[in-house]
Amino acid sequence: MSESGDAKPAASEKKRGEQPDRMERIVNLCKRRGLVFQSSEIYGGLASCWDYGPIGVELKRNVKDAWWRAMVWSRGDVVGLDCSILAHPRVWEASGHVAGFTDPLVDCKKCKQRFRADHLGQLACPEKPGKHPGECGGELTESRQFNLMFKTFMGPVEDDAAVVFMRPETAQGMFVNFDNVLETQRRKLPFGIAQTGKSFRNEITPGNFLFRTREFEQMEMEYFVKPGEEGRWYEYWKQERFDWYVKLGIKAENLRLREHEKDELAHYAAGCADVEYKFPFGWSELEGIASRTDFDLKQHAKWSGKDLSYFDEESRERYVPYVIEPAAGADRATLAFLVDSYDEDEVEGEARVVLRLHPRLAPVKAAVFPLLRKGGHPEKAQEIYTNLRPHFPVQYDQAGSIGRRYRRQDEIGTPFGVTVDHQTIEDGTVTLRDRDKTSQERVHESDLLAELLRRIAG
Ligand code: ATP
Repeated sequence: MSESGDAKPAASEKKRGEQPDRMERIVNLCKRRGLVFQSSEIYGGLASCWDYGPIGVELKRNVKDAWWRAMVWSRGDVVGLDCSILAHPRVWEASGHVAGFTDPLVDCKKCKQRFRADHLGQLACPEKPGKHPGECGGELTESRQFNLMFKTFMGPVEDDAAVVFMRPETAQGMFVNFDNVLETQRRKLPFGIAQTGKSFRNEITPGNFLFRTREFEQMEMEYFVKPGEEGRWYEYWKQERFDWYVKLGIKAENLRLREHEKDELAHYAAGCADVEYKFPFGWSELEGIASRTDFDLKQHAKWSGKDLSYFDEESRERYVPYVIEPAAGADRATLAFLVDSYDEDEVEGEARVVLRLHPRLAPVKAAVFPLLRKGGHPEKAQEIYTNLRPHFPVQYDQAGSIGRRYRRQDEIGTPFGVTVDHQTIEDGTVTLRDRDKTSQERVHESDLLAELLRRIAG
């Protein structure tokens, strides 16, 4: 084996600044290694739609699972839900989406392209990419409001009565089911309802790879509290959600909490803050945490006629709970984990690309290699591979030099390499290689599974 634990520090921070094409490198890696493909690629692609490949689907599932573990399983006060994407059209009238879920839109009279009027400073002119829209000599129209909800028809008749919307957020399903959860789960305040799932927004200017797409997945939670206690819980959830990204390996210096200015707040909101990540294209929202008062429950009570108040047995009062909402994007989070973990360094004089993903997030947890294609190595390695497979994603690779096999796994972030060599045949120990340290130690095959599970849990 050719490695001895001497990976040169990657000076990642220096490189980040020096790599203007960092996003491009990441997008290329995603395609080359089966993380993310362009949607409908063989037909020329569909703009800003992406398909997760065999490696990417594992990464995104791990992100969602980590969120669910933190937000539901590990707490006693949050339950899950999985609502349908289509809902009664009244839901979107009550929530304010029909009237107000709009972005300001301008057209360029020269190139006929459309842009979000409030993002002009961050957008490039399609004809003169060094300039912003409107600076190329083309005149922009007055801005007008454009509703972002996708419409479709339910049933065989395509008329106004059959219009339904593809949900633009998962949150409303949780408000609409507030009473169902309260009654069936015998909940007391404070408690939360969590959900992950697809949402759709007809974004005017999607882009930046997975960052802004028209179909995406959200991870949202509505935390219902007694009025008056919302300030404390707002502070609590901002910190919890910031810490979640750090615990899963994002460098704290690449994250910040940005409190919204008063003029950015919705009229009903008592506060809103974004967890922002320093993407290669600038600081941008990863997740929003909003203190939404009793607006949503009151709106649905008004429009549906159903009482959505809560009887507090302790104080013998009836009131409509306030809500704190941490709303994250599974695709944006996946992109942030990819960007933050992407690194290029050198091992034994050879350049390598490595995804330093937290083992919990890594798509493949371990790879098993026979050192040689003889001497009983492949048979033993196959046996170990078969035994590990039911527990987590594992790969088997016997093609090429051991160094090249390690590099292939480093590129997709596999944290552990298990190599069978002549000593394995003699005493049953294998080498266990750590992706980040590139050091190796010997572990008996009977302890291997427990050791890997321990390390994956982090
Ligand atoms: P933005 O200001 O970026 O449009 P938003 O404030 O409208 O986002 P929210 O409605 O708060 O977003 O949605 C919660 C989360 O859902 C966002 O923080 C983001 O992670 C994710 N999200 C929203 N829109 C998109 C999109 N078009 N593509 C991918 N993820 C999205």
